[in-house]
Amino acid sequence: MISDQGSSSKLRGRLAPSPTGAQHLGNARTFLIAWLHVRCQAGELVLRIEDLDTPRTKAWANEQAIDDLRWLGIDWDTTAALQSARTDFYLEVLEELKRKQLVYPCTCSRTQIEACWSAPHESFLDGVVYSGHCASRSVEDSKELDAKGERYAWRFRFGEGTSQWIDDYLGSQRLDAKRFLGDFVVARNYGPPAYQLAVTVDDHFQKITHVVRGDDLVYSTYRQLAIYGALGWEAPHWLHFPLVVGPDGKRLAKRHGDTRLSQWRQQGIGPERIVGWIAKSLGLTQTDAPISASDLLAVAIGLKDWWHRIPKE
Ligand code: GLU
Repeated sequence: MISDQGSSSKLRGRLAPSPTGAQHLGNARTFLIAWLHVRCQAGELVLRIEDLDTPRTKAWANEQAIDDLRWLGIDWDTTAALQSARTDFYLEVLEELKRKQLVYPCTCSRTQIEACWSAPHESFLDGVVYSGHCASRSVEDSKELDAKGERYAWRFRFGEGTSQWIDDYLGSQRLDAKRFLGDFVVARNYGPPAYQLAVTVDDHFQKITHVVRGDDLVYSTYRQLAIYGALGWEAPHWLHFPLVVGPDGKRLAKRHGDTRLSQWRQQGIGPERIVGWIAKSLGLTQTDAPISASDLLAVAIGLKDWWHRIPKE
Protein backbone atom coordinates (compact mmCIF):
# COMPACT_ATOMS: atom_id res chain seq x y z
CA MET A 1 0.00 0.00 0.00
CA ILE A 2 2.85 2.35 0.83
CA SER A 3 5.82 2.43 -1.48
CA ASP A 4 7.72 5.41 -0.22
CA GLN A 5 9.27 4.28 3.05
CA GLY A 6 12.92 5.10 3.74
CA SER A 7 15.59 3.58 5.91
CA SER A 8 14.49 4.11 9.48
CA SER A 9 17.71 5.48 10.98
CA LYS A 10 17.97 8.47 8.65
CA LEU A 11 16.45 11.84 9.31
CA ARG A 12 13.52 12.20 6.92
CA GLY A 13 11.69 15.40 6.14
CA ARG A 14 9.05 16.46 3.67
CA LEU A 15 7.97 19.28 1.39
CA ALA A 16 4.18 19.48 1.46
CA PRO A 17 2.83 22.10 -0.95
CA SER A 18 -0.92 22.56 -1.26
CA PRO A 19 -1.83 23.18 -4.90
CA THR A 20 -4.69 25.53 -4.08
CA GLY A 21 -3.03 28.31 -6.07
CA ALA A 22 0.40 29.71 -6.82
CA GLN A 23 3.27 29.25 -4.36
CA HIS A 24 4.46 32.52 -2.84
CA LEU A 25 7.55 33.92 -1.21
CA GLY A 26 6.35 32.63 2.17
CA ASN A 27 6.07 29.08 0.84
CA ALA A 28 9.55 29.41 -0.68
CA ARG A 29 10.97 30.36 2.71
CA THR A 30 9.38 27.38 4.45
CA PHE A 31 10.50 24.98 1.67
CA LEU A 32 14.03 26.33 1.83
CA ILE A 33 14.18 25.86 5.61
CA ALA A 34 12.85 22.30 5.28
CA TRP A 35 15.34 21.50 2.51
CA LEU A 36 18.33 22.98 4.34
CA HIS A 37 17.32 21.21 7.56
CA VAL A 38 17.37 17.81 5.85
CA ARG A 39 20.32 18.34 3.54
CA CYS A 40 22.55 19.70 6.35
CA GLN A 41 22.03 16.45 8.21
CA ALA A 42 22.41 14.12 5.21
CA GLY A 43 18.76 13.11 5.49
CA GLU A 44 16.12 12.26 2.92
CA LEU A 45 13.36 14.48 1.63
CA VAL A 46 9.91 13.47 0.41
CA LEU A 47 7.81 15.66 -1.88
CA ARG A 48 4.14 15.24 -1.00
CA ILE A 49 1.55 17.27 -2.87
CA GLU A 50 -1.40 17.82 -0.53
CA ASP A 51 -4.28 18.01 -2.96
CA LEU A 52 -7.21 17.00 -0.75
CA ASP A 53 -8.59 20.50 -0.26
CA THR A 54 -11.22 20.29 -3.00
CA PRO A 55 -12.62 22.34 -4.64
CA ARG A 56 -9.81 24.80 -3.88
CA THR A 57 -7.17 22.50 -5.40
CA LYS A 58 -6.17 23.41 -8.97
CA ALA A 59 -4.65 20.87 -11.38
CA TRP A 60 -2.23 23.45 -12.87
CA ALA A 61 -0.89 24.28 -9.43
CA ASN A 62 0.61 20.76 -8.92
CA GLU A 63 3.04 21.13 -11.81
CA GLN A 64 3.68 24.75 -11.02
CA ALA A 65 4.68 23.95 -7.42
CA ILE A 66 7.19 21.38 -8.72
CA ASP A 67 8.59 23.87 -11.25
CA ASP A 68 8.89 26.51 -8.51
CA LEU A 69 10.81 24.15 -6.23
CA ARG A 70 13.20 23.10 -9.02
CA TRP A 71 13.70 26.73 -10.01
CA LEU A 72 14.65 27.60 -6.44
CA GLY A 73 17.29 24.83 -6.50
CA ILE A 74 15.44 22.56 -4.07
CA ASP A 75 15.65 18.82 -4.73
CA TRP A 76 14.07 15.77 -3.11
CA ASP A 77 14.63 12.03 -3.03
CA THR A 78 11.13 10.58 -3.25
CA THR A 79 7.82 11.75 -4.65
CA ALA A 80 4.88 10.42 -2.64
CA ALA A 81 1.57 9.60 -4.28
CA LEU A 82 -0.93 12.46 -4.44
CA GLN A 83 -3.11 12.50 -1.33
CA SER A 84 -6.18 12.29 -3.57
CA ALA A 85 -4.95 8.85 -4.69
CA ARG A 86 -4.71 7.61 -1.10
CA THR A 87 -8.20 8.38 0.14
CA ASP A 88 -9.12 4.74 0.82
CA PHE A 89 -6.08 4.39 2.96
CA TYR A 90 -7.03 7.38 5.19
CA LEU A 91 -10.50 5.92 5.48
CA GLU A 92 -9.04 2.64 6.74
CA VAL A 93 -7.36 4.56 9.54
CA LEU A 94 -10.66 6.33 10.22
CA GLU A 95 -12.21 2.87 10.74
CA GLU A 96 -9.58 2.22 13.41
CA LEU A 97 -10.54 5.49 15.16
CA LYS A 98 -14.19 4.42 14.98
CA ARG A 99 -13.41 1.03 16.51
CA LYS A 100 -11.78 2.87 19.39
CA GLN A 101 -14.80 5.22 19.72
CA LEU A 102 -12.44 8.18 19.37
CA VAL A 103 -14.62 9.92 16.81
CA TYR A 104 -18.30 10.78 16.72
CA PRO A 105 -20.65 11.90 13.97
CA CYS A 106 -21.38 15.63 14.08
CA THR A 107 -24.23 17.18 12.11
CA CYS A 108 -23.60 20.80 13.15
CA SER A 109 -23.26 23.26 10.32
CA ARG A 110 -20.62 25.96 10.35
CA THR A 111 -23.30 28.56 11.06
CA GLN A 112 -24.61 26.57 14.04
CA ILE A 113 -21.10 26.13 15.41
CA GLU A 114 -20.40 29.85 15.16
CA ALA A 115 -23.76 30.72 16.73
CA CYS A 116 -23.08 28.45 19.76
CA TRP A 117 -19.69 29.96 20.35
CA SER A 118 -19.62 32.24 23.35
CA ALA A 119 -16.08 31.80 24.60
CA PRO A 120 -14.08 34.84 25.65
CA HIS A 121 -12.10 36.50 22.92
CA GLU A 122 -8.70 35.44 24.27
CA SER A 123 -9.49 31.79 23.67
CA PHE A 124 -9.69 32.39 19.92
CA LEU A 125 -6.40 30.66 19.25
CA ASP A 126 -7.11 28.76 16.07
CA GLY A 127 -10.65 29.42 14.94
CA VAL A 128 -13.98 28.82 16.58
CA VAL A 129 -13.95 26.20 19.35
CA TYR A 130 -16.50 23.44 18.84
CA SER A 131 -19.05 23.42 21.67
CA GLY A 132 -19.34 19.64 21.85
CA HIS A 133 -23.02 19.71 20.82
CA CYS A 134 -22.84 16.25 19.18
CA ALA A 135 -20.22 14.78 21.54
CA SER A 136 -22.73 12.52 23.29
CA ARG A 137 -23.19 10.60 20.04
CA SER A 138 -21.49 7.27 19.54
CA VAL A 139 -20.10 5.81 16.34
CA GLU A 140 -23.21 3.58 16.05
CA ASP A 141 -25.44 6.66 15.84
CA SER A 142 -24.03 7.23 12.37
CA LYS A 143 -26.16 4.31 11.08
CA GLU A 144 -29.35 6.24 11.77
CA LEU A 145 -27.92 9.35 10.08
CA ASP A 146 -26.87 7.25 7.08
CA ALA A 147 -30.37 5.79 6.86
CA LYS A 148 -31.82 9.30 6.79
CA GLY A 149 -29.26 10.38 4.19
CA GLU A 150 -27.88 13.11 6.48
CA ARG A 151 -24.52 14.75 5.99
CA TYR A 152 -22.14 14.67 8.91
CA ALA A 153 -18.52 15.08 9.89
CA TRP A 154 -16.45 12.68 11.99
CA ARG A 155 -15.06 14.66 14.91
CA PHE A 156 -12.11 13.51 16.95
CA ARG A 157 -12.77 13.47 20.68
CA PHE A 158 -9.91 15.24 22.46
CA GLY A 159 -8.95 13.86 25.87
CA GLU A 160 -9.26 16.05 28.98
CA GLY A 161 -6.29 17.94 30.36
CA THR A 162 -3.15 19.61 29.13
CA SER A 163 -1.17 18.21 26.24
CA GLN A 164 2.50 18.95 25.90
CA TRP A 165 5.18 18.59 23.27
CA ILE A 166 8.54 20.08 22.45
CA ASP A 167 9.10 22.02 19.26
CA ASP A 168 12.76 21.72 18.23
CA TYR A 169 12.75 25.42 17.34
CA LEU A 170 10.06 27.05 19.51
CA GLY A 171 10.68 25.00 22.64
CA SER A 172 8.14 23.57 25.07
CA GLN A 173 4.45 23.85 24.11
CA ARG A 174 1.45 23.13 26.34
CA LEU A 175 -2.25 23.71 26.06
CA ASP A 176 -5.58 22.39 27.27
CA ALA A 177 -6.46 21.45 23.71
CA LYS A 178 -10.02 20.28 24.37
CA ARG A 179 -10.88 23.61 25.94
CA PHE A 180 -9.00 25.97 23.63
CA LEU A 181 -9.20 24.15 20.30
CA GLY A 182 -12.19 21.85 20.68
CA ASP A 183 -12.94 18.50 19.04
CA PHE A 184 -11.94 18.63 15.39
CA VAL A 185 -13.00 17.16 12.06
CA VAL A 186 -11.02 14.23 10.63
CA ALA A 187 -13.39 13.22 7.84
CA ARG A 188 -16.85 13.77 6.42
CA ASN A 189 -19.36 11.28 5.09
CA TYR A 190 -19.26 13.35 1.91
CA GLY A 191 -16.06 14.70 0.33
CA PRO A 192 -12.45 13.75 1.02
CA PRO A 193 -10.87 13.11 4.45
CA ALA A 194 -9.68 16.20 6.30
CA TYR A 195 -6.14 17.56 6.46
CA GLN A 196 -5.56 16.55 10.11
CA LEU A 197 -6.11 12.85 9.39
CA ALA A 198 -4.36 12.74 6.00
CA VAL A 199 -1.24 14.56 7.14
CA THR A 200 -0.85 12.40 10.26
CA VAL A 201 -1.31 9.16 8.36
CA ASP A 202 1.14 10.28 5.67
CA ASP A 203 3.79 11.52 8.07
CA HIS A 204 3.58 8.23 9.94
CA PHE A 205 3.63 5.83 6.98
CA GLN A 206 6.12 7.88 4.98
CA LYS A 207 8.37 7.61 8.05
CA ILE A 208 8.83 11.35 8.42
CA THR A 209 11.08 11.97 11.42
CA HIS A 210 11.09 15.81 11.26
CA VAL A 211 8.16 17.98 10.23
CA VAL A 212 9.29 21.50 9.29
CA ARG A 213 6.48 23.93 8.54
CA GLY A 214 5.04 27.39 9.16
CA ASP A 215 3.93 28.41 12.65
CA ASP A 216 0.35 28.87 11.44
CA LEU A 217 0.15 25.10 12.03
CA VAL A 218 1.33 25.05 15.66
CA TYR A 219 -2.20 24.43 16.95
CA SER A 220 -2.77 21.70 14.39
CA THR A 221 0.12 19.88 16.02
CA TYR A 222 -1.99 19.35 19.17
CA ARG A 223 -4.62 17.72 16.97
CA GLN A 224 -2.13 15.56 15.12
CA LEU A 225 -0.42 14.59 18.36
CA ALA A 226 -3.77 13.38 19.69
CA ILE A 227 -4.20 11.17 16.60
CA TYR A 228 -0.68 9.74 17.01
CA GLY A 229 -1.46 8.97 20.64
CA ALA A 230 -4.82 7.38 19.81
CA LEU A 231 -3.23 5.04 17.29
CA GLY A 232 -0.18 4.27 19.42
CA TRP A 233 2.15 5.75 16.80
CA GLU A 234 5.40 7.51 17.62
CA ALA A 235 5.17 11.24 16.88
CA PRO A 236 7.81 12.95 14.74
CA HIS A 237 9.89 15.98 15.77
CA TRP A 238 8.21 19.24 14.87
CA LEU A 239 9.76 22.59 13.98
CA HIS A 240 7.45 25.52 13.29
CA PHE A 241 8.96 28.67 11.84
CA PRO A 242 7.50 32.15 11.62
CA LEU A 243 5.86 33.04 8.34
CA VAL A 244 7.17 35.85 6.17
CA VAL A 245 5.70 39.17 7.18
CA GLY A 246 5.40 42.36 5.17
CA PRO A 247 6.85 45.72 6.27
CA ASP A 248 3.69 46.27 8.37
CA GLY A 249 4.39 43.13 10.43
CA LYS A 250 1.32 41.33 8.99
CA ARG A 251 1.39 37.95 7.27
CA LEU A 252 2.17 38.37 3.56
CA ALA A 253 -0.97 39.00 1.53
CA LYS A 254 -2.02 40.47 -1.81
CA ARG A 255 -1.70 44.03 -0.53
CA HIS A 256 2.05 43.49 -0.15
CA GLY A 257 2.36 43.03 -3.90
CA ASP A 258 2.67 40.02 -6.14
CA THR A 259 5.07 37.52 -4.54
CA ARG A 260 4.15 34.53 -6.70
CA LEU A 261 7.29 32.56 -7.55
CA SER A 262 5.93 31.71 -11.01
CA GLN A 263 5.57 35.38 -11.83
CA TRP A 264 9.20 36.13 -10.90
CA ARG A 265 10.30 33.07 -12.86
CA GLN A 266 8.44 34.28 -15.95
CA GLN A 267 9.95 37.74 -15.59
CA GLY A 268 13.41 36.21 -15.78
CA ILE A 269 14.31 37.13 -12.20
CA GLY A 270 17.03 34.77 -10.97
CA PRO A 271 16.17 32.40 -8.12
CA GLU A 272 19.40 33.56 -6.42
CA ARG A 273 17.76 36.90 -5.72
CA ILE A 274 14.86 35.25 -3.93
CA VAL A 275 17.12 32.81 -2.08
CA GLY A 276 19.40 35.76 -1.15
CA TRP A 277 16.49 37.67 0.33
CA ILE A 278 15.32 34.59 2.25
CA ALA A 279 18.87 33.83 3.46
CA LYS A 280 19.14 37.24 5.07
CA SER A 281 15.66 36.95 6.60
CA LEU A 282 16.80 33.65 8.18
CA GLY A 283 19.90 35.24 9.68
CA LEU A 284 22.16 33.04 7.54
CA THR A 285 23.77 35.88 5.60
CA GLN A 286 24.54 39.50 6.45
CA THR A 287 23.14 40.99 3.23
CA ASP A 288 20.47 39.95 0.78
CA ALA A 289 23.03 39.55 -2.02
CA PRO A 290 21.99 36.86 -4.53
CA ILE A 291 23.05 33.34 -3.59
CA SER A 292 22.16 29.92 -4.99
CA ALA A 293 20.42 27.33 -2.83
CA SER A 294 23.48 25.06 -3.01
CA ASP A 295 25.83 27.86 -1.90
CA LEU A 296 23.43 28.65 0.94
CA LEU A 297 23.53 24.98 1.93
CA ALA A 298 27.32 25.24 2.21
CA VAL A 299 26.87 28.29 4.48
CA ALA A 300 24.34 26.45 6.64
CA ILE A 301 26.50 23.33 6.91
CA GLY A 302 29.21 25.53 8.43
CA LEU A 303 26.87 26.78 11.16
CA LYS A 304 25.81 24.29 13.82
CA ASP A 305 22.04 24.10 14.31
CA TRP A 306 21.67 27.18 12.10
CA TRP A 307 17.88 27.18 12.41
CA HIS A 308 18.20 28.65 15.91
CA ARG A 309 19.45 31.83 14.20
CA ILE A 310 16.08 32.35 12.54
CA PRO A 311 14.45 35.38 14.19
CA LYS A 312 11.41 34.44 16.28
CA GLU A 313 9.32 37.32 14.87
N1 GLU B 1 0.07 21.57 2.80
C1 GLU B 1 0.17 22.51 3.89
C2 GLU B 1 0.42 23.91 3.36
O1 GLU B 1 0.83 24.07 2.22
C3 GLU B 1 1.27 22.15 4.84
C4 GLU B 1 0.86 21.10 5.78
C5 GLU B 1 1.92 20.62 6.73
O2 GLU B 1 3.10 21.01 6.57
O3 GLU B 1 1.58 19.87 7.61
O4 GLU B 1 0.17 24.84 4.09
